[in-house]
Amino acid sequence: MIHAIDVIRKKRDGAELTSEEIRFVAEGAARQTIPEAQLAAWLMAAWIRGLSRREVADLTAAMRYSGEVFEHAGLGKSTVDKHSTGGVGDKTSFLVAPLAAAAGVAVPMISGRALGHTGGTLDKLESIPGYRTQLSLAEARAVMDLCGATIIGQTKNLVPADRVLYDLRDRTGTVESPWLICASIMSKKLAAGLNGLVLDVKTGSGAFLKDPKQSRFLAELMVETGERSGTRTAAIMTSMDQPLGRMSGNWIEIWESVELLRGERHPLSEDLRELSLVLAGWMIHLGGKAATPGEGRAIAETKLEDGSGLRIFREMVAAQGGDLRALDEPEKFHQPKFRRSFVAGKAGYFASCECELVGWAVQRLGAGREKAGEPVAAHAGLEIKIKLGDRVERGQVLAELFTEEESRFAEPEALLRRALVIGNEAVTPPALIGEIITA
Ligand code: URA
Repeated sequence: MIHAIDVIRKKRDGAELTSEEIRFVAEGAARQTIPEAQLAAWLMAAWIRGLSRREVADLTAAMRYSGEVFEHAGLGKSTVDKHSTGGVGDKTSFLVAPLAAAAGVAVPMISGRALGHTGGTLDKLESIPGYRTQLSLAEARAVMDLCGATIIGQTKNLVPADRVLYDLRDRTGTVESPWLICASIMSKKLAAGLNGLVLDVKTGSGAFLKDPKQSRFLAELMVETGERSGTRTAAIMTSMDQPLGRMSGNWIEIWESVELLRGERHPLSEDLRELSLVLAGWMIHLGGKAATPGEGRAIAETKLEDGSGLRIFREMVAAQGGDLRALDEPEKFHQPKFRRSFVAGKAGYFASCECELVGWAVQRLGAGREKAGEPVAAHAGLEIKIKLGDRVERGQVLAELFTEEESRFAEPEALLRRALVIGNEAVTPPALIGEIITA
């Protein structure tokens, strides 16, 4: 017989828990048979003491199977996905899902909402009129059968242990733990039934884990956990030192993605294009459709240029109820009530960016929410007009701000004043793509 108090005390004292004890915690969370106070105490003990590799693997597996799992019997294709640890202007999902699907792998992507200063894939997709993110697994499978990719929200019964533990972590200061983050992310990804997974692990001023050592440790832990569970997993460390691409918000991120899928190029979207091709290349490689990630990238680029990525994105949007008319002229569909330019106070070089503050500016313009469950503003956000290292003149427009309520400009403007640092010396921007971690 296992008792919650014994498991808490054991972890508190730094001992390694047995597989049965770890399962007891995950099942107790999912079935709500362990009281919140005891789960919270266990989480704090785990946050402070850390978990062994075996404990992380056991916790991930127990959480993964705490509810329904996405099965892909009879699909006849490898299933692959991409997961990002969260960023500002990070919209690669809208590119990599259709590009990988166009190359012949299936993409069952289960995404989340805005969290802290980072945007949410589901919030962005829901800015397309009619797009349904809350599909049953059977409905999602039907979309995937039809077009090769689906992007949906977590169902009520998928990984219920994470739903309970994540909510508690959010309220008890136990979010920023590489072991708990790994189990949380990987349990959901593995429950989606993946053959391959590429992780975009962000570092720098706009990432959750800003210390490169910490984010690298998380990446390594997630790769090991994925591989132990039979999913081919690779992690790519990428810079989140400035917004990715030029749009950050909800609808405007769909607009930028559609523009790229249509083959249009914009100098400020080149980083987004490059990262999307690299990530899609890895997905195609892990899904067995390319011998190397480089070959996968080349295939992804062909699928971008021949329009098949755009075709699949449109098919997926239509299959999930979205109104395609919005995608035909995305810039015309952009109708924020208020716009304002943010200009440079002095001349110089765009020397550094507190990217998390840019993320908060986007959220405070109305793209994110103050409380769980609140609606978000579809057209809120900002268009950044410069990249790190650029020469800037006094009075030059650095960003265009969009909101639904005029009173929302003041705080984002103050945040941007701190976030976008104009210096006297020219600087070399950090490399977008860093180390690649594989098993
Ligand atoms: N995203 C998750 O799903 N879980 C975490 O713990 C952190 C980010």
